[in-house]
Amino acid sequence: MQTKTLIVGGGLSGLALADRLHREKSDFLLVEASDGFGGRIKSTTIGGAAFDLGPAWFWPGQPRLQSLIDRFELKVFEQHSEGESLVETADGRVLRSRGYASMQGSLRLAGGLGSLITALVNELPEDKCHLSAPVAALTHTNGEVRADTAIGSISARHVVITAPPRVASDSISFNPALPAGANQALQNIPTWMAGHAKIFAVYDTPFWRQNGLSGDAMSQRGPLVEIHDASAAENGGYALFGFVGVPADSRSKLDQSLKQIALDQLIRLFGKQAENPSELILEDWAQNSLISTPADHTNVGAHPVYGRPPSLTGLWQGALSFASTEMAGDFGGFMEGALEAGENLILS
Ligand SMILES: Cc1cc2nc3c(=O)[nH]c(=O)nc-3n(C[C@H](O)[C@H](O)[C@H](O)COP(=O)(O)OP(=O)(O)OC[C@H]3O[C@@H](n4cnc5c(N)ncnc54)[C@H](O)[C@@H]3O)c2cc1C
Repeated sequence: MQTKTLIVGGGLSGLALADRLHREKSDFLLVEASDGFGGRIKSTTIGGAAFDLGPAWFWPGQPRLQSLIDRFELKVFEQHSEGESLVETADGRVLRSRGYASMQGSLRLAGGLGSLITALVNELPEDKCHLSAPVAALTHTNGEVRADTAIGSISARHVVITAPPRVASDSISFNPALPAGANQALQNIPTWMAGHAKIFAVYDTPFWRQNGLSGDAMSQRGPLVEIHDASAAENGGYALFGFVGVPADSRSKLDQSLKQIALDQLIRLFGKQAENPSELILEDWAQNSLISTPADHTNVGAHPVYGRPPSLTGLWQGALSFASTEMAGDFGGFMEGALEAGENLILS
């Protein structure tokens, strides 16, 4: 196969770049390693209600995301934050607080963020976007790059890698090898949120709201350290979700018992009504080798300063670029950054 621009990765950044090239009538192919588009964006639908297992929130002042939402006429709603918050102390006391709900003012998409991915994919020609097509090797010769993929070899003038930098460095063989500085840069860039896991408990009623609680809770005891209302906008899908505080390598050994310990915590915090969720879902991003590498299993803490390092520009005479959200200078790490990362790439 032959194309002008080969996009590696079908998360938000890869799809946004494909959308740009399609609208510019510029030839492209997109190859995604997994069997679905969206990457870190993943919504699951239960009884008609959508829950976001990866990112959930966006914020006013993110113009690229807003313009896509406007273009596809997707419905936005505000994170539920009415009611008191809870704090669980290390010694197990549960305190109610009238304080500010930490995600107040954050925005969500009705239908889940997966509906944005679906809307983007629907705009693209089917024969240009391939699933289950991991790139294993890239070879630069005679002003062209050859990609060895699971669906055959593809030659392109440009290759844009939107896989997370560490995943690209660990899983793709570059021939000739990238300069040491470039390889080091790829390894040094933490993949935003890739070491995290979320647990969702889905309920028939929003009993916490009825009890004057917002669903927000902070816990020093765990295993969930930060809990929020994750209810869908419509179709009666009520849920609480929490970020798991147990480090990635330890929680992989707990697996099913982690869900039970998290449920016990929800009962401690929100009462007996929490004991029978209709679904209890664990989404552990650290176990997804297309998103997370062992280096990402350590929590990065504060939001890193992202942006494309100089060592990752001009590679292979400009034929090789990187454009995951981690390459964005303003909104790096966020979905808005995934849209920002590829927008100014020159692919003439
Ligand atoms: C738990 C969690 C919560 C988050 N919360 C928020 C939030 O509330 N708000 C927010 O703005 N952001 C949030 N984020 C971050 C947000 O998800 C990312 O900014 C965004 O989705 C990144 O998109 P991307 O396309 O750059 O990368 P990705 O989504 O990582 O896409 C990369 C794609 O490349 C593919 N790939 C990997 N290797 C190969 C290969 N060799 N060949 C082909 N394809 C390959 C992968 O399968 C994947 O589909 C969160 C992320 C997580 C995990």
